[in-house]
Amino acid sequence: MHKFKIIILYFAKYLGFFSIARKITSRGLRILCYHGFSLDDEHLFRPKLFMTQVLFERRLAKISEMGFAVISLDKAVHMIESKTDFSNSVVLTIDDGWEGVGKIAWPLLKQYGFDWTLYLTTYYAEKQTQVMNIAIQYLCWKTSKKEIDLSLFAEIFKHKNEFQGLKSISILEKELQKIGTMFSTSEERQNFLSIVASAFGLNQDDIEKKRLFYLLDMATIKKMHNDGVDIELHTHRHSIGGEDKNKLNLEIAENKKSIQKVCDHKLKHFCYPSGLYTQKHLGWLEELGVVSATTCRPGLNYHTTRLLELGRFLDGENISDIEFEAELSGFSELLRKLK
Ligand SMILES: [Zn+2]
Repeated sequence: MHKFKIIILYFAKYLGFFSIARKITSRGLRILCYHGFSLDDEHLFRPKLFMTQVLFERRLAKISEMGFAVISLDKAVHMIESKTDFSNSVVLTIDDGWEGVGKIAWPLLKQYGFDWTLYLTTYYAEKQTQVMNIAIQYLCWKTSKKEIDLSLFAEIFKHKNEFQGLKSISILEKELQKIGTMFSTSEERQNFLSIVASAFGLNQDDIEKKRLFYLLDMATIKKMHNDGVDIELHTHRHSIGGEDKNKLNLEIAENKKSIQKVCDHKLKHFCYPSGLYTQKHLGWLEELGVVSATTCRPGLNYHTTRLLELGRFLDGENISDIEFEAELSGFSELLRKLK
């Protein structure tokens, strides 16, 4: 099915439909979303979450080649509010704040002179331990073992009699995720990951050294801010807190407090963690002084688009060049509208 779609897109491009779509949709603001960047083989592990340097550079070159103006999120929001013409504009956003953003995306964006926004989730940025659930997933993906002898986990599983003998990785992963949440200090967490890695025949020190599943530290965030990067809100624990207003208030307050330790601008743009929200959240965010919020829903933005429900295209290693171009040209948007 995917191959079929790619062939159709190539035909559409060469028949001139991309150019027509571009003309029809030129008034629609394109907002692109990125996450992490691959420091080793993470793009093979989670292609939607981690992108290679080579591909990201190709994306920036394409945006430039297609003649789009890359404008800052703040400017775009002002232009939507004041109904100013923002034809042929693109906004670049990066979510979470993974280590690779500093090493790979930042220098490239600087080289192209593109403005961009980083929606930072602060819990792991402050804690400076690996993002636990992703690190566990990675170990389970990376190991060549199909089954693990549970006696290797004796230390972790000591009170659980059911953990004996061999267990398949896929079943074990769920258990490990549950256990992982029980450790609160960074030392306990690192120790836990080391035990899992060595049972899986992997070298945890190596993964640690490359900082594969770390978020940027706050000192780097400060440098980015001083360099003109727009740092914005993404909650403290990467959670909107369900439909609980107090939880949302706390998440935003802690996120703000943490970012404001190193940045001195007013934080007013937000990105829904995992794209989750309900209509209730819009009013609550407004009360908190949030001016704009991006979703994970693809779609172009016009003067009539609600600022707290901005559409965004999630780019990743899983998106082919032609799909990216179809999205930028507006052809994919027209197809979505037709559907
Ligand atoms: Zn996120």
